[in-house]
Amino acid sequence: MLPFRLVYHERYDLNLGQHVFPSQKYRWLHDRLLRTRFAAEEDFVAPEAATDEDVLLVHGSEWVEKLRSGTLTYHDILKLEIPYSRQMVEAFWLAAGGTILAARLAFETGVAYNVGGGFHHAFRDHGEGFCAINDIAIAIRRLQRDGRVRRAMVVDCDVHHGNGTAGIFGQDQSVFTLSVHQFHNYPAEKPLSSLDIHLPDGAGDNEYLERLGNGYRAALALFDPELIVYVAGADPYHQDQLGGLSLSFEGLRARDRLVLSMARARRIPVAIVLAGGYAESVEDTITIHANTAAVAKEVLAGGQ
Ligand SMILES: [Zn+2]
Repeated sequence: MLPFRLVYHERYDLNLGQHVFPSQKYRWLHDRLLRTRFAAEEDFVAPEAATDEDVLLVHGSEWVEKLRSGTLTYHDILKLEIPYSRQMVEAFWLAAGGTILAARLAFETGVAYNVGGGFHHAFRDHGEGFCAINDIAIAIRRLQRDGRVRRAMVVDCDVHHGNGTAGIFGQDQSVFTLSVHQFHNYPAEKPLSSLDIHLPDGAGDNEYLERLGNGYRAALALFDPELIVYVAGADPYHQDQLGGLSLSFEGLRARDRLVLSMARARRIPVAIVLAGGYAESVEDTITIHANTAAVAKEVLAGGQ
């Protein structure tokens, strides 16, 4: 068996049909991990959906009610950029439950991997950029409410700025938000994270790893979190359709190693979530996410 759990539910699919967001990727990644014998069925654990009470720890009741009752306005849907369906709402609640579960399991094994989640563009009172509710924030708030953690850190390595997460935790000293992203990309407006690392168009492996390494090292020394949620977006990849950075497969693996091994050295549990990935070939997106799981296994085994 793997030294950590993979959290997955067959209804993670957001049911988007033909869309630049390949929301079937969760199932494809699950299938790839099994097919390559990286994982076996017993390595996966299915989450329960987050409760509305969990979601309300982060989101306003009006936004939750709109999602629950299907009364989003035309403007709400435009900002969300995905079609409304009951399955979509259920999938977001399951993803949030998955990130809560991954955060809890990370305390048992050092790392846990949600084969989903990372919806960092969702704000308290609205959704945007394919994100209806913010599973990252919900998981942190739930663990704080349960008394499991006081201080948590979000390390957001998706190519897009973690605007929703930054907005939600903007006034909150108990959560450190780090976002490393392409500056000239969505979202146009970037609320301040605790640490924003703005990268220029086309930045490659070396620049990315140096800037992230320096910022992350300083953030850990300064903040000393009890839990890290690692937003392991696949879209800094050089062939991403919505990204403008130039990372290679190996660079992305080095990124995963950097984030996970520095946490490991400090014995900080890490919950991994997937976030974006829009490679021209969806197989590449799956490979990047699968590689993150492989690096987690290496790091837990003590290898670098
Ligand atoms: Zn993204």
